[in-house]
Amino acid sequence: MSTKVGYSIIIPMFNEEAVIQETYQRIKKVMVMTGEAYELLFVNDGSTDSCAQMIEEYSYWDESVSLIDLSRNFGHQIAITADMDYAVGDAVVIIDADLQDPPELILDMIKEWKKGYEVVYAKRVKRNGESLFKKWTASLFYRVLRYSTDISIPVDTGDFRLIDRKVCDQLKRLPEKNRFVRGLVSWVGFRQKAIEYERDERLAGETKYPLKRMIKLSLDGITSFSYKPLKLAGYLGALLSASGFLYLVYVMYLVIFTESAVKGWASMIGITLTFNGFVLIMLGILGEYVGRIYDETKGRPLYIVQEVYGGNLIAHKGID
Ligand code: UDP
Ligand code: MG
Repeated sequence: MSTKVGYSIIIPMFNEEAVIQETYQRIKKVMVMTGEAYELLFVNDGSTDSCAQMIEEYSYWDESVSLIDLSRNFGHQIAITADMDYAVGDAVVIIDADLQDPPELILDMIKEWKKGYEVVYAKRVKRNGESLFKKWTASLFYRVLRYSTDISIPVDTGDFRLIDRKVCDQLKRLPEKNRFVRGLVSWVGFRQKAIEYERDERLAGETKYPLKRMIKLSLDGITSFSYKPLKLAGYLGALLSASGFLYLVYVMYLVIFTESAVKGWASMIGITLTFNGFVLIMLGILGEYVGRIYDETKGRPLYIVQEVYGGNLIAHKGID
């Protein structure tokens, strides 16, 4: 599709009324500095506060602003995906609404993009104002992910990145339901470039990623790109049954060649519980994969749009 929009900025928001005005102003300021045409695509991921109304209002007097209003909360990764479907820019930038990702970095991303990189991602060298627990679990997650997958997903990198139109078009061809967008971007390939930054504290409001959602995202990341957890069952099973067999040989030796009786009620219970535990854990891992297969087979749409607001989108109607 030919377009005059240079940059599409994708901003997912879920109950961000405390920050959204500031976010809008800061991103706007940066984009004006580019001197090129741009669109600010906000997506309302089922917020229950007034952030969507605020953006809807902006869209009436600022024609660069559009709002895609989803019918309920579909989750951050789906919200980004919905926005990508609507973006028409030659380059698409994904940025959080809470100003943890400094919008000023977009200018540096654009510089690299103009040098010919199709993906410019922002790597966090430092995270400010986040709990030790969050930093530690995030760091662990990226390392587990790196170990368990065959494609190289950069560590300490969130969704804050610029992608070229070509990459965006390819991403739109990937229909999977449990999405881990940053992994998909790596999977798609193209020339990628990292730029480093310090992740700021949330301007206001609180994180929309409680532990439960972080675990879900991590599992999506790992299961979408790796079979290693499934293989683990095989390896562990082989190891355990080999050691069980060796132990049996030892016990038989004791019974046949020595006088000592083999006592073992406590150890038997211990071993039974541990091994049953292993089996259940492996079943759980299997369940993670089976559940995702089930999600894929249902063939439901990824998201449902309730309404779109904004001049640009109306001009580009026909995109579904
Ligand atoms: N977000 C969203 N839907 C959700 C959860 C989060 O659109 O279900 C948005 C949120 O408004 C923010 C971005 O995704 O713009 C990142 O979320 P958050 O800042 O809470 O995550 P954190 O930075 O704490 O990992
Ligand atoms: Mg945040």
